[in-house]
Amino acid sequence: MTGARKILKISSGHQASDGAGVKLTRFIGSPEIDMVDPFLLLDYFSSDRPGDYIGGFPDHPHRGFETVTYLLAGRMRHKDNAGHEGVIEAGDVQWMTAGRGIIHSEMPEQEDGLLQGFQLWVNLPARDKMMAPAYQEFSAENIPVESQNNGTVVKVISGTTDMGTIGAVENTSTKSLFLDVSIKAESSYSQAIPESHNGFIFVINGGVKIDDGDYFLTKKMLGILGNGDHVTITSGKEDSRFLLIAGQCLNEPVVRGGPFVMNTRAEILRAFQDYKDGNFRR
Ligand code: FE
Repeated sequence: MTGARKILKISSGHQASDGAGVKLTRFIGSPEIDMVDPFLLLDYFSSDRPGDYIGGFPDHPHRGFETVTYLLAGRMRHKDNAGHEGVIEAGDVQWMTAGRGIIHSEMPEQEDGLLQGFQLWVNLPARDKMMAPAYQEFSAENIPVESQNNGTVVKVISGTTDMGTIGAVENTSTKSLFLDVSIKAESSYSQAIPESHNGFIFVINGGVKIDDGDYFLTKKMLGILGNGDHVTITSGKEDSRFLLIAGQCLNEPVVRGGPFVMNTRAEILRAFQDYKDGNFRR
């Protein structure tokens, strides 16, 4: 269906705790919104109370999908069983393709101050679920920034903008679009999104309306987009900042087993067995 995408559903998320007691708000992968194919999970964390985040996410496995960590404030150290280690800071992104399996930890690299950011899980199509693990990691200064005449600034993490800016992360499995967009008060922003993609908007600051719809999304709200070939977003009386994320709908069976997401129950049992047998450590 061509035309402007509208908002199908909005959500203010659910309070949750994961890892070793990290407090976060879960927007996708929650009782309210199970998934937005291909997106399996979206967590937002924002706290300046060390007790909310200091436990971090000690060693845990993943198989069958990708995890994207995008930090707005603070520092996180990640480390995996293949010897990959690094720190990501405000504005940096880590796009990790778990593929057939990794074991990693994600720990705050700070004892106090604000830790704020997102974790997004992007499903892999059946053909890619057992691919070799891979990382794409970019510091803020290596993420292309598009500045438009009306004051709009777009950080292009993945995908291609209407003006032709190509994102830092290459994503062939779901051709995901991941944009961090800042627009001035009462200004509009449009972006093409292929009709094969599902997408959503998450408001970081300010407030926005989508295609003259009835919903006005304010800070810390998620809006799932309906069908169409583009989206037009207009800010209210404040400057606004939001994530615009979309990816190719896979339409495949999804079976979750904690940190593993596969197509069948047998594949999930296999993942637990492989993990138990130490096959993730090779
Ligand atoms: Fe993880």
